[in-house]
Amino acid sequence: MDLTTFVIICLLLGLVYHGILQYQKQKARADVIQYWLDEHDKKQNEGSGDINTGKQARTTGKRAKMRIQILFSSQRGTSKTYATKLFQQLKKIAKSVTLRNMNKFDPERITQQGHTDLLIIFAPTYDNGLPSDDGRAFYEWLDDLSLDFRVHKNMLHHLNYAIMGLGDSAFGPERFCQVAKKMERCLKKLSATSLVPTELGDNGAGNDVNKQFNAFRERLINAISASPDTHQSKSRDDHPTDISKAVEILSDSDDEGEPMLDIEDMAPTDETKHSADSSSTDVAQISTEDVPEMLTPLLRKSLEKQGYKLFGSHSGVKLCRWTKAMLRGRGGCYKHTAYGITSYRCMEMTPSLACASKCVFCWRHHSNPVARSWKWKVDEPEFLIQNAVENHVKMINSMRGVPGVQKERFEEAFVPKHCALSLVGEPIIYPHIGKFLNLLHEKNISSFLVTNAQFPEQMENVDKVTQLYISVDASNPEALKKIDRPIFEDYWERFLECIDIMKRKKMRTVFRLTLVKSWNMNEMREYAELIKRGEPMFIEIKGVTYCGNSKSSDLTMKNVPFHEEVKDFAFKLCQVEGMEDYEPACIHEHSCFVLIAHKNFRINGEWHTWIDYERFHELVHSGEDFDAFDYVAKTPEWCLIESEEQGFDPAEERVYRKGKKKGKKEPVQQEYSAGGC
Ligand code: SF4
Repeated sequence: MDLTTFVIICLLLGLVYHGILQYQKQKARADVIQYWLDEHDKKQNEGSGDINTGKQARTTGKRAKMRIQILFSSQRGTSKTYATKLFQQLKKIAKSVTLRNMNKFDPERITQQGHTDLLIIFAPTYDNGLPSDDGRAFYEWLDDLSLDFRVHKNMLHHLNYAIMGLGDSAFGPERFCQVAKKMERCLKKLSATSLVPTELGDNGAGNDVNKQFNAFRERLINAISASPDTHQSKSRDDHPTDISKAVEILSDSDDEGEPMLDIEDMAPTDETKHSADSSSTDVAQISTEDVPEMLTPLLRKSLEKQGYKLFGSHSGVKLCRWTKAMLRGRGGCYKHTAYGITSYRCMEMTPSLACASKCVFCWRHHSNPVARSWKWKVDEPEFLIQNAVENHVKMINSMRGVPGVQKERFEEAFVPKHCALSLVGEPIIYPHIGKFLNLLHEKNISSFLVTNAQFPEQMENVDKVTQLYISVDASNPEALKKIDRPIFEDYWERFLECIDIMKRKKMRTVFRLTLVKSWNMNEMREYAELIKRGEPMFIEIKGVTYCGNSKSSDLTMKNVPFHEEVKDFAFKLCQVEGMEDYEPACIHEHSCFVLIAHKNFRINGEWHTWIDYERFHELVHSGEDFDAFDYVAKTPEWCLIESEEQGFDPAEERVYRKGKKKGKKEPVQQEYSAGGC
């Protein structure tokens, strides 16, 4: 044997030896895993009648590719116990399984294709026919979604579901497992597919709900195991010897960073053990804990991207473009012209990012939540006001050093004088809106509150506000449905009721008409009818603002009227029969805006559309009864419709867009503006 052959043989022997060592090492690791899995199965099955389908699935080496989301709500732990048991089984046969309490889950996720393939719900019903507190938000969200006529009925076509209800048949067929039944109806309506028949667990006397759960689980596991979408699981060699790490591998990580219920949480506590055997699910006391926050992490991210400064769990501020413009001496907004606000001292804010409408022209691109009632945690009004001002001031501070910012205005801007409650969402549904307005006034901040007129009860409760608005986006139910896309079925009745309530208020009242060409500019008579009904003191006519392409709206620049068209509309409206008390008073060409005022505000032949803000605060602080005419101020000439300035404050510097010549008349159309109200 020559030297070369000898070296090759040695190398080959070395490789074989190394291979044997590796094999033994990995076999030892796999044995540890197998030992743990078998022990775990044994423990789980002792006395529980569990089905060992998971072990069977491991033997075949196949795990379903389905992404499974298990949700539960639970007052005493019964459904949590069942959900946990199922979770432990499923993670042996499926690649991705997560388990969450409903109130820790962002429901919008199931609407996204690719997030969840199978949604398993454990839904208890209490004696009032409702879910537990921690399940209420999800339950209402699903109900809202299924009722929302704007939502495509195929929205959840990508989703399979399986539901186990828990209840007590002694409460009668109407209430028994009502939550599970309703959830199923909603899911079906949105085209989700039932993977296995819904199980209605009956805790009533003589029933064995454990048996029902086992049957439900068996059906489910069989259906998942039989799903065509399976793949070869990772080789055992990939598993580390450390058991805690092995458990991590068996279940996918939580993509929202929330703790996922895992091996440590498996054993039922005494309380849940008791509960699982008890027949008292339907009569458990409902606690007030676990109320969800309005802003989910996903929503927060999306709104922050759009420049909102969010604080607490449902509020935000944004710096308006007119605030910035006036800080630089480049003119104020239309409210500066019509009511004398100081735009550089205006704070644009909302105490509720949720709304009951999805208006086609909403420049927020509908990233805010939609709801018919308040169902979230509530931040205190004192907290809101402090944080609103702090965040607003921070944004003002960010204007430091920006070319053109006037020193004196910049310093004054640190103390806001006005609050425009029209940023996004529906401010009136904030449960403490009355107190919040009072706190603004205490700080000598005037309030401009805009509502979509869908919440008559809350409207009734608004006491003092500097100026109260209703957005009148259409003059008849069909057009309102098309434009505002309200979520309530009785949206028109609500709208009219709010108008009636507004009429009874003594404060300054305004109808705001946002004109969308070819959509809502023709029905003059119908608008006049609404105006006669509500008798607002002012009517703002504005051209819609184009907010760029949006999947959620068909609006294009063709729908944006020119300023002359807006002006023409205002004059024509005042000529309709029944409109004799109104007249166009002010104009702000820059915003395609005309203010129609009630002739009562023409005092001694001069318009008084402006507000005496100091007087307003004096009156509020005095506690005396007062009305809108007690704090009026004379409107300057440059604001009037016939003025040469066309509403542009002559004390400001007019900056013309690139390509536009000074003094040259061009048709004006309202384009996208990052802010404004
Ligand atoms: S938020 Fe509204 S009122 Fe305030 S400055 Fe901007 S446009 Fe004017």
